[in-house]
Amino acid sequence: MSFSELGLAPELLRALDSEGYTQPTPIQAKAIPLVIGGQDLLAAAQTGTGKTAAFTLPILHRMSSTAPRPLPRVLVLVPTRELAAQVGESVRTYGRHLPGFRTAVIFGGVGMNPQIDQFRRGIDIVVATPGRLLDLMQQGVAKLNGIETLVLDEADRMLDMGFIHDIKRVLKALPAKRQNLMFSATFSPEIRELAQQFLHQPVSVDVAPRNTPAELVAQRAHPVDKARKTALIAHLVKQGDWKQVLVFTRTKHGANRLSDQLAREGIATAAIHGNKSQNARTKALADFKAGDIRVLVATDIAARGIDIDQLPHVINHELPNVPEDYVHRIGRTGRAGSPGEAVSLVSGEEREYLRDIQKLLKREIPSTVVPGFEPGSQPSEAELSSRAAQPADRGPRPAQQPSHHRRGASPGQGHNHNGHRGKPAGGGGQPRHGQGARKPSGRPQRHGASNRPR
Ligand code: AMP
Repeated sequence: MSFSELGLAPELLRALDSEGYTQPTPIQAKAIPLVIGGQDLLAAAQTGTGKTAAFTLPILHRMSSTAPRPLPRVLVLVPTRELAAQVGESVRTYGRHLPGFRTAVIFGGVGMNPQIDQFRRGIDIVVATPGRLLDLMQQGVAKLNGIETLVLDEADRMLDMGFIHDIKRVLKALPAKRQNLMFSATFSPEIRELAQQFLHQPVSVDVAPRNTPAELVAQRAHPVDKARKTALIAHLVKQGDWKQVLVFTRTKHGANRLSDQLAREGIATAAIHGNKSQNARTKALADFKAGDIRVLVATDIAARGIDIDQLPHVINHELPNVPEDYVHRIGRTGRAGSPGEAVSLVSGEEREYLRDIQKLLKREIPSTVVPGFEPGSQPSEAELSSRAAQPADRGPRPAQQPSHHRRGASPGQGHNHNGHRGKPAGGGGQPRHGQGARKPSGRPQRHGASNRPR
């Protein structure tokens, strides 16, 4: 099956050609004709299946054959800022030979005025997180009574993040007669209820994930003392000459600290999490994709929706206490059929988490000790002196402490790309300095609603 057999407009085929896509993924092959036909859709599809193009392409196709409208015609609701930015980018990429369609990406944590200006100038496709969109609706700026197609992307994530009321309030403002497309990786009773409430005789489309982590991602665990995890990461990255590594930490502060420490080792790195301004996060992600940053350190929430083709390495600095989060994390690699590798650093107190994860995966993750990093062994002199120089060990740091570093940046002289010193975006307050470094922490907390975008 080819894209032209799906009946897509020539301008879209040209864009797909330049992207190098030769054939539709299963979700695209199933969904595109249905959406072109005007059906409501309930699709079970995870990130990595090509779901974004599965709704973006037929939507652009339908718009291309109709006259322009004064008000927005398409609304895509997404759970996170990162996903909003990525969907917006996809719409622009696939629609680049269809001039005249204006796309706006709307999310919280950034100034509202440019978004207000965009609505005033006119938008055709709105990609938004629910909170900020509601704010703009309440101000009378976002008028949604012209919406013809609604997409709920990653609906399960939106419910997980507590967006249900916001979603319902947005839906109330839309015309009753419209096309609805809902994408979700999982189908809980809550998702089914939501689907029942707002989809009209939907066609269900279900595709196996394009890659199942257990098959495509090589996984391994390294038992190691907690205090030596950072040194082990630096060792793995340098020894293996790894160029693009996504490292997960449990806390925002942990992400900053690890990023600081790796910078000290001469590794170009940046941290992204909910306390970073949106601009800093976008910049860090762009630098990472461009290869200017070798290690991107992220918390679970910040990493959601990060889509990097052929990301080769994921490291878990700590294991998540929720086994499903492990699957989401390692799913960041092994995309589009390329092999990926997921490494988990497991301290004594995390062994229980590893057992839970293996139970969920129904397979054992091979566990090997890295020579020189045996649990209970002594760190080298160099490692000790590097650790002694850590800012966290010298007490609290100022709030604007940089955590975005260039290769070779001398300690403490890194810089935050946009010079952001203001209120942290995304809520959650400042990190508590010094936390988690020297005292053993209890069971980690799940990230809560404080990180959700407004
Ligand atoms: P998604 O599931 O929408 O997050 O897409 C996952 C990745 O697959 C993205 O990086 C897309 O650029 C890529 N992709 C989407 N459709 C195709 C296709 N038909 N062929 C190859 N890659 C694709």
